[in-house]
Amino acid sequence: MYKNIDKKDLAFLKDIVGEDRLLITLPDGFNNDEMPIYGLGNGEVAVYVINSTEVSKILHYANENNIAVTTRGSGTGLVGSCVPLHGGIILSTAKMNKIISIDPSTMSAVVEPGVLLMKLAAEAENLNVMYPPDPGEKSATIGGNAATNAGGMRAIKYGVTRDYIKALELVLASGEIVTLGKDVSKNSSGYALKDLMIGSEGTLGIITKLTLKLIPKPTLNVSLLVPFENIHSCLQAVPELVQLPDICTTLEFMEKEVLDDAKEYLGKDFPDRHYPAYLIITYSASTQIQLDAMIKSASDKLKTLNAKDIFISDTVERQSSLWNTRGAFLEAIKNSTSLMDEADVVMPITRIADYLDYINQLSHQHQVRIRTFGHAGDGNLHVYVCKDDIEEARWTELLPIVMDALYARALEEKGAVSGEHGIGHAKKAYLEASVGKTQIALMRSIKEVFDPQWILNPDKIIDLK
Ligand SMILES: Cc1cc2nc3c(=O)[nH]c(=O)nc-3n(C[C@H](O)[C@H](O)[C@H](O)COP(=O)(O)OP(=O)(O)OC[C@H]3O[C@@H](n4cnc5c(N)ncnc54)[C@H](O)[C@@H]3O)c2cc1C
Repeated sequence: MYKNIDKKDLAFLKDIVGEDRLLITLPDGFNNDEMPIYGLGNGEVAVYVINSTEVSKILHYANENNIAVTTRGSGTGLVGSCVPLHGGIILSTAKMNKIISIDPSTMSAVVEPGVLLMKLAAEAENLNVMYPPDPGEKSATIGGNAATNAGGMRAIKYGVTRDYIKALELVLASGEIVTLGKDVSKNSSGYALKDLMIGSEGTLGIITKLTLKLIPKPTLNVSLLVPFENIHSCLQAVPELVQLPDICTTLEFMEKEVLDDAKEYLGKDFPDRHYPAYLIITYSASTQIQLDAMIKSASDKLKTLNAKDIFISDTVERQSSLWNTRGAFLEAIKNSTSLMDEADVVMPITRIADYLDYINQLSHQHQVRIRTFGHAGDGNLHVYVCKDDIEEARWTELLPIVMDALYARALEEKGAVSGEHGIGHAKKAYLEASVGKTQIALMRSIKEVFDPQWILNPDKIIDLK
């Protein structure tokens, strides 16, 4: 259906980006993301672009010649969204990596899409401002974060990537360059096209510049590690904690088994691993008095909620020990098994405990190991179904049964298919089951408007026409 890359196309691309930035032999890892189960793509050639004019010329040509184009940031996605399914061009933003400005006087930053999250976070902090979105993988690009509407640990207090994007420069499938949104604090000017782009996974346009909102950087942070005697009492504390006068910056839950995997993977122990379930709660403030008041009110509340202890991490070293372990959970589970699939479901925080009971039931019923951890404060769970030594034929039969059951139950709990990782090609069927035919039809109509030839990351989020 799409045209394969031929000599004429290669000559065109070489003309635009030069020999050095045209990759005819794809580097390792360029045809996949971080979830091996979603397979290898079939991208034929890759280009490193360095400005929107190059992107514009390439898209114009691809559109005229019916060539699929898949944008790639750092390839850290978890749903196969940067994995090309219809050959064509992989367009890498890795070299569009300049921070154009960070302006504390307007609390905004302007960046190219290939800037890494860790670079932006560090440079903002040097100027005493903060870019609040904090997804776990710091080597992801800001363009990738925008394209997946990435969430992360601090979403409970600050919201997600979409909440911090004021404007986007975008190249449309036709090659036209447009700017959506403005560097203003409010905007009620027609349809929210900028917001539609965020989370569209490279299917509606290619982001070439982002204007971001910053906030003052809180100077003090304290994390509390709170053990519970079971996961139910742990999760029952969550709706109580969110009602305290000061909202915490992170509110994560984890079970002992995941901590065991992390110890095995990192070779380092967590500050405590004796109890079946834990919360990590962080408070941030600008003065010690404010912070002490927040910790007192949380501690008083936790004592009434069956917390077994409260370990306070108030030094950089102690906090790093907590957060380095928390940050390694996904890789630790991946390391503990031969293959795994993931559900990134999100639901009301009051439903998580029942959902975890259901996961346990599924795990016993099908004799499959399932690991779960997540953002308790915003109801976003990461559920990993592990193959371990399950023989191939049984795994092939079992996995869809378990995944279908996980998504069906999340729907019953009034949840959504993805809290932050997106849909890609891996979760399309579940999206349709969740939102229904009318919304899928609306999404198809939107795709037709922005990309009538369906050249942009085809077969992602919705099926090819
Ligand atoms: C260990 C680990 C922890 C993670 N933790 C989190 C977490 O806490 N929260 C979270 O939300 N995610 C998390 N992720 C997932 C991943 O890091 C995010 O989805 C991230 O936003 C992807 O960014 P990327 O640059 O790697 O994009 P890629 O994986 O390269 O691409 C992702 C999608 O964005 C599109 N895209 C990329 N750049 C552009 C652009 N400039 N214009 C248009 N489309 C574009 C691609 O086509 C693709 O559809 C984690 C991943 C790992 C491996």
